[in-house]
Amino acid sequence: MGNNAFYIPHSAMAIVAHPDDIEFSCVGTLARWARAGARISYVLCTSGEVGIDEPGMTRAKATEIREDEQLSAANIAGASEVIFLREPDGMLEPTLHLRRRLVREIRRFKPEVVVCGDPTIVWAGNDYINHPDHRAAAYAALDATFPAAGQPNLFEEFESEGFNAHKPRKVYVASWGNADLYVNIEETIEIKISALRAHISQMKDWDPEVSIREWAAERGVGKEMQYAEAYRVVTLVNDETWTTLHDDIIANE
Ligand SMILES: [Zn+2]
Repeated sequence: MGNNAFYIPHSAMAIVAHPDDIEFSCVGTLARWARAGARISYVLCTSGEVGIDEPGMTRAKATEIREDEQLSAANIAGASEVIFLREPDGMLEPTLHLRRRLVREIRRFKPEVVVCGDPTIVWAGNDYINHPDHRAAAYAALDATFPAAGQPNLFEEFESEGFNAHKPRKVYVASWGNADLYVNIEETIEIKISALRAHISQMKDWDPEVSIREWAAERGVGKEMQYAEAYRVVTLVNDETWTTLHDDIIANE
């Protein structure tokens, strides 16, 4: 697939640590897919409940605020569903427990594409260290996607719920160092900015308008794109195999 080809999956599931992670990383792409008719699912490992630093704030109150904000943001982007796993914010680890929960979501929704973060990112410029929850969510998402979700004799207990093994076709890893695919988000940059603004508790005095345009413009340099998002893409099931195996899913949409 060349950099200019635009691939539209039938469905995609984004798996992240916190409310606002999708908006910062990949919502421009997800919104393009949603506009083209794709079913889009968001899976939030935590509800970001330690992420509001205000006097009198509790984790319970923050959970409510941040989940509401995430639902508004998802609505702006055209996502079909938002799942909150409510694992503990600030203490997320890529455990078998988390892998198992993510396998269940993948087998239930049967996404054609899984979108997640890059677990290898630690350093980002001179003023930020990638949050440990981001790395944990990214490892857990990758490990759930391959090979676990597609192995019928692993976590076979989900069969009783009707959630059989499922092999996603591709993984899109939102990246800023190892990208091999750039998605043009000129038509959804406004959605990206609006969806970020929905996270009122996180924005405070910061207006995403300027920075989001700058970052997206940097990624578009040399790609003939005004604004872009960057991914490393792994194709787990080749195209012919996918069509044969998944006629049923495509036909039911
Ligand atoms: Zn985050």
